[in-house]
Amino acid sequence: MYHEVQGVVALGRGRPVSLETVLVPDPGPGEALVRVQACGVCHTDLHYREGNISDGFPFLLGHEAAGEVVDVGPDVRGLRPGAFVILNWRAVCGTCRACRKGKPQYCFATFNATQPMTLTDGTPLSPALGIGAFADLTLVAAGQCTEVPRARPEAAGLLGCGVMAGIGAAIHTGEVAPGDSVAVFGCGGVGAAAIAGARLAGATTIVAIDIDDRKLEWARTVGATHTVNSSREDPVEAVRAATGSFGADVAIEAVGRPEVLQQAFYARDLAGTVVQVGVPNPQMMFPPVPMIDFFGRGGALKPSWYGDCLPARDFPMLIDLYRQGRLDLDHFVSETIGSGDVEEAFARMGRGEVLRSVVVFP
Ligand SMILES: [Zn+2]
Ligand SMILES: [Zn+2]
Repeated sequence: MYHEVQGVVALGRGRPVSLETVLVPDPGPGEALVRVQACGVCHTDLHYREGNISDGFPFLLGHEAAGEVVDVGPDVRGLRPGAFVILNWRAVCGTCRACRKGKPQYCFATFNATQPMTLTDGTPLSPALGIGAFADLTLVAAGQCTEVPRARPEAAGLLGCGVMAGIGAAIHTGEVAPGDSVAVFGCGGVGAAAIAGARLAGATTIVAIDIDDRKLEWARTVGATHTVNSSREDPVEAVRAATGSFGADVAIEAVGRPEVLQQAFYARDLAGTVVQVGVPNPQMMFPPVPMIDFFGRGGALKPSWYGDCLPARDFPMLIDLYRQGRLDLDHFVSETIGSGDVEEAFARMGRGEVLRSVVVFP
């Protein structure tokens, strides 16, 4: 049986998204049908619409979502209808080389639903990051559902992508420890989450760097102790000044640009860690850094995929911290919108007016 719902679809490269009727099948083996309650608008959705990720149009967008399981496939264990879940885009396989080495965060064979969701004429949709949650219902692999304690869906769903990537960049990839100094380059949704993660981990100096004063204000709200507008002052010097002239223990690049990675590289203390969580485009080249500086400064350069998170470990823990008032996820919800408003939300995101617009489904 198919369920007929409305979904936000990108029909072709660069074309505005539109609301289309989407047919969602009942869950088969290994699958779960989820009623979406809220789904954040992420840069990645815009990248899909612009054709930067693949040519697999039409895309069903949306991937930062929370909702309730409606039904599960016949062989699914450990997930029941009615469960409140956050969707994840890395359901680990448990059997690949990375999983067997005990590093499932690098799983090479993550999985998604096998049955396609389609347009009414039968055209299969490519769900964004294997999720496709700008729709009342979506079909995912059961492993993409992480059950968490009930919480405000608009806030909880953000853990499914950008906020988790940022928090994880600090606590997992950067291994920020109590007393550390941290510099975060770029204070959009992911960067602001990295600041919140650094605070959770006990960093005592957190320097936020951006070119937009509004974002620097948000950065203070989530835990930055110092702010630097890098359009007006040299961020490397400013980080040194804030850290007793040493540089930061951990420098997090949350923009995805070579010149910013270069700043992060030099803003670290000797033997400090650089974390790259901003996503570069395929044309960008690694910044020109003298090899002697790479060797001589020591430390580590670490890309961070999805914040090196393990959804089953991290989502419930972060929801607990949210419910205890120790992680202000509400701060990341700049506005709630309807599913017809995604195109305007892309524009507001482009102008830097929001941390997250979140689509809510009645
Ligand atoms: Zn695996
Ligand atoms: Zn995302």
